[in-house]
Amino acid sequence: AKLTNDDVRLMCKELNVKFIRLQFTDIFGVLKNVAIPVEQLDKALNGELMFDGSSIEGFVRIEESDMYLRPDPNSFVVFPWKSRESAVARLICDIYNHDGTPFIGDPRYALRRAIAEAEEMGYTMNVGPEAEFFLFHVDADGRPTTKTHDKAGYFDMTPIDLGEDARRDMVLTLEQMGFEIEASHHEVAPGQHEIDFKYSDALTAADNIVTFKLAVRTIAQRHGLHATFMPKPVFGMAGSGMHLNQSLITKDGRNAFYDPNAPIGMSEISMNYIAGLMNHIGAITAIINPTVNSYKRLVSGYEAPVYVAWSSRNRSPLIRIPAKRGMSTRIELRSPDPSCNPYLALAVCLKAGLDGIKKGMVPPPPCDRNIYEMTASERQELGISSLPENLSEALKCLTADEVIKEALGPHIYDRFIEAKSIEWDRYRMQVSPWELEEYLTKF
Ligand code: GLN
Ligand code: MG
Ligand code: MG
Ligand code: MG
Repeated sequence: AKLTNDDVRLMCKELNVKFIRLQFTDIFGVLKNVAIPVEQLDKALNGELMFDGSSIEGFVRIEESDMYLRPDPNSFVVFPWKSRESAVARLICDIYNHDGTPFIGDPRYALRRAIAEAEEMGYTMNVGPEAEFFLFHVDADGRPTTKTHDKAGYFDMTPIDLGEDARRDMVLTLEQMGFEIEASHHEVAPGQHEIDFKYSDALTAADNIVTFKLAVRTIAQRHGLHATFMPKPVFGMAGSGMHLNQSLITKDGRNAFYDPNAPIGMSEISMNYIAGLMNHIGAITAIINPTVNSYKRLVSGYEAPVYVAWSSRNRSPLIRIPAKRGMSTRIELRSPDPSCNPYLALAVCLKAGLDGIKKGMVPPPPCDRNIYEMTASERQELGISSLPENLSEALKCLTADEVIKEALGPHIYDRFIEAKSIEWDRYRMQVSPWELEEYLTKF
């Protein structure tokens, strides 16, 4: 059942809540918050709390900067790592203009719009994210390093590893916050971990991803470690992805991706959805792989996708169909990384999938071979294209895609392109250690 404002008031009393953090994210997915004493709760729940939007990156200019926070009562949760005597709770907020209309630059509103469009077509989107991250040591001054003393690999058990203790604590903390943890394991690289939580509707999933990252970082810190969701922190090792398992549920509660009579049990709708994702993947990539570093992960040899293809058999393509059928039928998009803004990521995926359904798009045949082992001409013959190779290419795709542009809305679209173009420029002007190594003595 969904929580109401009255439930929130009651729980604040019962749980001794003294402070409430009102949370939202900027367009780059960075978590922001305003802390209020519990005495201000009523004012907050009535959406009367104002903040200065001009100081948030990508929001508004000074002339139009009065914005209002409207807490979503259903997002109420008490932080388990704070004391019980003077508890701290949080509420995730939607952002409104002072005339009472939703703020078009709010990423959560972009996702709400895509969800509303799906709803009109008769669907609810379910999402199950699989976020990976690294746990690194900090140096004597407390600054994060990229060092790990851990030597473990995929699914290993290493009783002496500090990271294992931290991860167990993370799972327990997340459970106290209402997460249903389905799996948690060591990943391929030393110091790399994954914690999977149960799928939910898209808005809850995006909220959960934000909360998940905050909890993981906080608990790591308490164990003297630094948790990072940077996509590729160490050259030569696996990067961190955030696979997004997606499905559509119909009004009468059926999984629209499942059809026992269709080939491999996947419905026509699921094929349209896959085709929509593949059709818009260039522009989507700018949103789900939004940093310069994201593209250092999308290279062959580390189980991250490079080519635009789908398969039900192997893990090299962009989209995989996990074996489960019935209500668990879903597609897994494997390119997203955890540096993305989860609200925008889910908004653009859903929008692309719906576009595929509306236009009856048909995907190319599945590719069940290892694409990494194909030659360029074999790929060309099969019509398999590549993902954008860097942020600049992805941004070019974004400027050419009207559907994804509409999913973001003009405000987020403009601010995103502007800020990310500057980020790319700052990066491409750097002279890296690799270049010095390569050219300094050669020329
Ligand atoms: N770390 C891989 C990636 O970058 C995924 C590995 C896995 O989950 N099998 O996406
Ligand atoms: Mg996984
Ligand atoms: Mg994994
Ligand atoms: Mg996966």
